[in-house]
Amino acid sequence: MHEMSYAVRIADIALRAANENPAPAEGFAAGTSAPAEASAASLRILAVRVSCGEMLAIVPALLETAFRECVKGTIAEHAKLVVKTMPVLIRCASCGREIDPHGPDGYVARCPDCGSAALRIEHGREFVVNDIETEII
Ligand SMILES: [Zn+2]
Repeated sequence: MHEMSYAVRIADIALRAANENPAPAEGFAAGTSAPAEASAASLRILAVRVSCGEMLAIVPALLETAFRECVKGTIAEHAKLVVKTMPVLIRCASCGREIDPHGPDGYVARCPDCGSAALRIEHGREFVVNDIETEII
């Protein structure tokens, strides 16, 4: 269950952000780790919102379960985890055309408009903690 490694990172980021900035925090990119100590007893995390690219194949229910384990006994123990799955979007680097692999184009090796093979994945493999909702009690 690879969701656990993502859950650990989400918990780290959320707890660190809440401790560093008790006001609502936004825009913490994933991928870093730091000590996550829940020191402020009067602070509680209400919700954590994350975006997961479809290509990561994260199952939201499993992520939620893993997250619950990670935040046991912390100020995020009762936090709601909101998982948004970001669908894959490919863009042609030559002409800028968007290619939706779920649409009529499907997964293509070349741009249907200009024929360029310089296609890049714009969305679908990101993993971002978008924001954290906290409450002072
Ligand atoms: Zn193109």
